Amino acid sequence: MLKIENLSVKINDNTILNDFNIDIKQGEIHGIMGQNGTGKSTICNTIIGKPAYEVVSGSIVFDSKDLLKLDITERARAGIYLINQMPLEVPGVTNAEMLRIAISERTGEVVNLFEFNKRLEEVCDMLKIPRDFIHRGINEGMSGGERKKNELLHLWMLEPKFIILDELDSGLDLDSIKIVVDSIKDYQKKYNASVLIITHDPKLLKLLNVKFVHILKQGKVIETGDLSLASKLEKEGYKGYE
Ligand code: ADP
Ligand code: MG
Repeated sequence: MLKIENLSVKINDNTILNDFNIDIKQGEIHGIMGQNGTGKSTICNTIIGKPAYEVVSGSIVFDSKDLLKLDITERARAGIYLINQMPLEVPGVTNAEMLRIAISERTGEVVNLFEFNKRLEEVCDMLKIPRDFIHRGINEGMSGGERKKNELLHLWMLEPKFIILDELDSGLDLDSIKIVVDSIKDYQKKYNASVLIITHDPKLLKLLNVKFVHILKQGKVIETGDLSLASKLEKEGYKGYE
């Protein structure tokens, strides 16, 4: 589904990713861990195609398409969705307006408003967020945790096949982590989606039953393993990776 080979990425002339490799098949859940500033958010932003991230060499193939030839909107349309570390506010555009346009763009059909509104309410109830989020500005005035849940509302409505979660747990209280994790698991199962999750918490990788754990250092994967690697990090931290 997503294969990245020998990727090097610069921001403002600084090399951030250096010979980065990963291969994520359909339906697999992968986790990336690594200390602050090692390039975790950079890999997320490069995959979705944020303009500031300059790919110097290497390739990203998604669903047999050369992703590097697509712009940020085309990549979203291809089915890639990122929940940012700190989702931005888009004041003045409501969730409902944005989602209605995004869905009709993707399907090429006018959205059936009755079905659409019903679905929005169902998803709000499932995520235990107030239904009035539907008509609020995107992430406007929302706390960090509410923004994460609001992004999940988008996820369920837009139905992407590849989801990237950058520090999903930051800003979420304990109850919300459970709701969000269950929701991601349900989503993954229902759509056989691929998931790439960035987190500092090995427990979260276990909760999500991640299949592969990668350790990133200075923009490169230096070790890949299964959940036992997460357990090792839980006990020992990054000692041994200095
Ligand atoms: P992580 O998510 O692993 O904490 P990031 O990918 O956000 O790390 O950042 C990796 C490195 O790239 C850091 O040293 C950071 O300062 C630098 N960096 C990230 N974004 C920019 C930017 N827009 N301009 C300059 N440097 C940046
Ligand atoms: Mg980050």
